[in-house]
Amino acid sequence: MTSVFREQLYIGGQWVPPDSGERIEVENPYTEEVFGHVPAGTAEDVNLAVSAARQAFDGWASASPADRGAALGRLHQALAARAGEIAETVGRELGTPLKVAKAVQAGLPLTVLSGYAELAARGSEEETIGNSLVVHEAAGVVGAITPWNYPLHQVVAKVGAALAAGCTVVLKPSEMTPLVAYLLFDAAHEAQLPPGVLNLVTGTGPAVGAAIAGHPDVDLVSFTGSTATGRAISRAAADRIAKVSLELGGKSANVILADADLVKAVKVGVGNAFLNSGQTCTAWTRMLVHRSHYDEAVELAAKTAAGYTLGDPFDPATRLGPLASAGQRDRVRGFIERASSARLVAGGLDAPLPDTGHFVAPTVFADVDPDSELAQEEIFGPVLSIIGFDDDDEAVAIANNSRYGLAGAVWGSTDRALAVARRLRTGAVDVNGGSFNPFAPFGGYKQSGIGRELGAYGLAEFQQVKAIQR
Ligand code: NAD
Repeated sequence: MTSVFREQLYIGGQWVPPDSGERIEVENPYTEEVFGHVPAGTAEDVNLAVSAARQAFDGWASASPADRGAALGRLHQALAARAGEIAETVGRELGTPLKVAKAVQAGLPLTVLSGYAELAARGSEEETIGNSLVVHEAAGVVGAITPWNYPLHQVVAKVGAALAAGCTVVLKPSEMTPLVAYLLFDAAHEAQLPPGVLNLVTGTGPAVGAAIAGHPDVDLVSFTGSTATGRAISRAAADRIAKVSLELGGKSANVILADADLVKAVKVGVGNAFLNSGQTCTAWTRMLVHRSHYDEAVELAAKTAAGYTLGDPFDPATRLGPLASAGQRDRVRGFIERASSARLVAGGLDAPLPDTGHFVAPTVFADVDPDSELAQEEIFGPVLSIIGFDDDDEAVAIANNSRYGLAGAVWGSTDRALAVARRLRTGAVDVNGGSFNPFAPFGGYKQSGIGRELGAYGLAEFQQVKAIQR
């Protein structure tokens, strides 16, 4: 396969040379070879991009809903024409198996963007409260900072919503997976978005991310990534009281009640925990099982995990790709190494692995202490922890025993499962296999974040509300 060298940034509607000649290399985590590079941007590049976004703001914010909707429609069309290239690029820079890359890494952002084209065209409704006219307005210049695990989806969730709301954007994608973002900007250029409405500065977190978060002319910082970085971004934005929305980590529970369809709950649960090699913020990494089914669930989860085929993301037989980087693999191995008090029932550090690539075998631990590191920390790899419980109250208590609150699942008879779902302190819960809805609000309680993404709730994050008294 050919190398991908991107030498420029996208600022003010043009491809422009970066401030510095420094580059960031992009590695294929399966072959372990460098196959591309992008510019390592600087604070000076961020200044230029923010100033282009500021200049474009008044025009874009006051454009008619029809014009903004049409522009986003053109962007969607140009991006959809690149769907195959998107899946391949994410397969190469992240290692997502091609089938998942097509459905999720390419398909999901396209669905999300077409939804935002529609919402943009609809415009926002005005409301009358007594003598006040309440209007929704674009929040301003947005700094968007995104991670590597769903590299285009996380970008589009911000960019689509921000542009639909009338904001202008400076994007910094993850330095580990920057290439797929370039496809969005190729599409933006082709779609002739007004200059300055959407700008790209690639680079590291400490250089470009921090410059965006601390920039005096950025009105809102929208961040997805780790809780530790979210904290740093909040602090930087606090100095100027800028709005911040944060989508952070998770440690979600999959609660399997006494009257659940056990086989389905365990199989879907394992699939969810290992999706994208476990590098999913919503992954149900804690499987909570009623004691009456515990042994059966452990056996089935172990068998399901052992049945995964690891290998080349471009081989159709591959179910599980490598982790995103050697560093990520070593981090995940560390969690497995330290998990001495739990019972290893599948995978582990001695399981056979492909010859190349940053792999960790799909790993299942039973008898996990709910307070242990395994059950409390976000591992971000294919590691599942199984924990038993005696009744629904105990299940809820264990599920909520987490500083995170992003997602989760409950399986059981409908009313009972719904009652448990309502008691979970998380931003989303799937009951009996209810599937992911890309238009429903998405976000976290507790240390999983602030604010919501996707659909109309996601758009509202990028608006200010004004009351006009008459
Ligand atoms: P990360 O926090 O290391 O990096 C995320 C982004 O922040 C990257 O673009 C990075 O360059 C940038 N960054 C790093 N340091 C920065 C700084 N000091 N100032 C500004 N920007 C900085 O996270 P990651 O390793 O890329 O992603 C994995 C994490 O993201 C996991 O914890 C996962 O749970 C979380 N995540 C959350 C969601 C969600 O929606 N809640 C979705 C996906 C991933």
